[in-house]
Amino acid sequence: MSLSVELKDLEDLTSNAKQIQDDVLKEILTLNANTEYLHRFLNGSTDKDLFKKNVPIVSYDDVKPYIERVANGEPSDVISGGPITRFVRSSGTSGGKQKIFPTNDKYSEKLGYLMALSSLVISKHFNGNVSHKGKKMGFLYNRLETKTPSGLLVSSAFATYFMSDYFKNRSSKCNLEYTSPDQIILCIDINQSVYCHLLCGLSQRDKVVGVCATFAYALVQAINVLQISWTELSNNIRSGQVSEWITDLDCKNAVSTILGGPNPELADVIEQECSHKSWEGIITRLWPKAKYIECIITGQMAQYVPTLEFYSKKLPIVSPMYGSSESLFGINLDPLSKPQDVSYTFVPDFSYFEFLPVDHEGDIVDLVDVKLGCYYEPVVTNYFGLQRYLIGDILQVTGFYNATPQFRFVRRKDMVLSVDVETTTEDDILKALARAALVLESSSYMLMSFTCYADISTCPGHYVFYWELKAKDGKDVVELDEKVLVECCSALEESFDALYRRFRSHGIIGALEIRVVQQGTFDSLMEYFVSQGGSIAQYKTPMCIKSSEAFALLESKVLARFHSEQSPPLEF
Ligand code: AMP
Repeated sequence: MSLSVELKDLEDLTSNAKQIQDDVLKEILTLNANTEYLHRFLNGSTDKDLFKKNVPIVSYDDVKPYIERVANGEPSDVISGGPITRFVRSSGTSGGKQKIFPTNDKYSEKLGYLMALSSLVISKHFNGNVSHKGKKMGFLYNRLETKTPSGLLVSSAFATYFMSDYFKNRSSKCNLEYTSPDQIILCIDINQSVYCHLLCGLSQRDKVVGVCATFAYALVQAINVLQISWTELSNNIRSGQVSEWITDLDCKNAVSTILGGPNPELADVIEQECSHKSWEGIITRLWPKAKYIECIITGQMAQYVPTLEFYSKKLPIVSPMYGSSESLFGINLDPLSKPQDVSYTFVPDFSYFEFLPVDHEGDIVDLVDVKLGCYYEPVVTNYFGLQRYLIGDILQVTGFYNATPQFRFVRRKDMVLSVDVETTTEDDILKALARAALVLESSSYMLMSFTCYADISTCPGHYVFYWELKAKDGKDVVELDEKVLVECCSALEESFDALYRRFRSHGIIGALEIRVVQQGTFDSLMEYFVSQGGSIAQYKTPMCIKSSEAFALLESKVLARFHSEQSPPLEF
């Protein structure tokens, strides 16, 4: 089941985008013509014009009842003509619950293909073809799969791929070899997995030409683990023995083989590099042949650019691809472009793509009809039952590669706070505040103003809320009740979505913090924004703070800090 991928494919795909897109739509409509969902709108027709006229543009809540019916055991053809053999769990949520999307082997095949194609492009840029000259240290993880009521597996898109035969049989020609054996990628205990990735990467330090993860945050986390565990890691290398707490036997055996016995010289080098006071450039110091970092660094991950640049002494950061649980979209054909300039070239045979102008003004257009410089929301019709599904991202057209448009990722619609891939929206924040307000009711003060940000300078990153309080009797707040404020922290966390709570309980996100600021702080904040050219009449306290001056102002007024003391329950 090995996929053959060549750079020439890219030229073929991007030169014939229009025809390929029409063929993809025809194929999908033929496949799904008799599903309960599509039949309602098309009555069995596969005509493109009728599709555009009759099939509505939808969001998750519109298709959720159909998806849930299949998840609960009804046949696939409620929504999909092809078999639904598993579900992909997305990081987005609907009504506080994670979304799941129907899928089958074809998704893994396409993801494998996309990864291989992207690897080829990257290899070509770094030293012609590095694939014969080194390895990638990849912080890649599997996550525990769950099951739907009918017994179908649910997992993240990447876990789906790692568990598939397409990953097992991937061609080494396309995918640069990893320093970690597959057993480590497949291990579902993330702590054991990251430790073993590091051990394998360190013991093959002279072979590492690229350091990669799917999303940037996973790399930052791996460096954090290195910072905590380097003595233990170097001891393992010195003795040739893996720590006892690595109990996953497949992992342990695979790592032992890589270690191959005691290596005190290497252990000395690692200890020497890691005991420097500053960790600036630690990646290039420990892996001197590394030429690039590879991870998705656009969108909500852009916040990690400075951290990764610090650790890597500004190695190029390659953001390889753009995709989602609903569909894969495109790859970056210019790996050396700076994170802020990255564009993704859509790959036209993955799904049928349409583009809705932002603010929904103007007609929805086909992939090849988007206009340079314009902003759009992608709408996807995929092979697994989604028809005209609004993804919720905003993209800008930056150019064309052959006949295929390239897009810059502008932002996720409605996203305000994020540490990892979770998406906390304005709505989520307002709901969480309403919950915390109930806790405050029992106290002698009330919340006057707030703002928040994701603090990623801590390890792990965490959400910070600045609160200005006022005593209910109108006087100054003299004493803060610690118990109430800690409870408010918990109330905020309990209200966040399932993914936030899961990340929090796994230690991927740290305890939420409330920083109480002096009275009058938010007036000063407004004065600051107005002094920058804003108008008082239009001023709204920003829900999330981004400006460093505003941030410094808030910090100078902090009276006290409170943290939640336990992870929120996973389910209610
Ligand atoms: P998920 O369905 O959980 O895989 O999340 C998909 C979402 O992650 C997309 O809709 C984007 O908002 C975001 N995403 C994925 N790839 C990128 C990328 N290369 N740049 C920016 N955001 C991305």
